[in-house]
Amino acid sequence: MSIAYAPDNIFAKILRGELPCHKIYEDDTALAFLDIMPRADGHTLVISKAPARNLLDIAPADLSAMMPAVQKVARAVKEGMQAEGLLVDQFNESVSGQTIFHLHFHILPRWSGVELRPHAGIMAKPEILAAHAEKIKAALAQS
Ligand code: 5GP
Repeated sequence: MSIAYAPDNIFAKILRGELPCHKIYEDDTALAFLDIMPRADGHTLVISKAPARNLLDIAPADLSAMMPAVQKVARAVKEGMQAEGLLVDQFNESVSGQTIFHLHFHILPRWSGVELRPHAGIMAKPEILAAHAEKIKAALAQS
């Protein structure tokens, strides 16, 4: 039995426009924005518009509907950040590292020789996030 979705989480507030974000992309199924404590430059989150806690409770149709957005944003992150590859992370419940209980996929650019920073560690400066968002949005606009 899964735990009920709680609509007062931070990502639900971002979806409702009650909190700001460095937005990358939005469609009917998903919203993408930069992680405020990036583990890598350009670390992007793609969250479902469906009110799901994580992978375990989202309706299969809502999950499949949002995956093209995950792929589209992943391609733009790789291109915009000139990454060599990407790590896609998705945590389910606290024991696995989930801290915000609204379904999201982490898209982490990777470069050889560049270590990931700690999960939810250091807050990035807004101007740095804004610069990275512009690079990724420029890549999206070309796609
Ligand atoms: P989780 O651990 O739930 O998979 O990941 C939650 C992520 O949300 C973390 O990587 C954390 O840095 C990020 N985060 C936490 N609060 C905020 C916020 O207010 N805005 C944004 N953009 N990201 C946040």
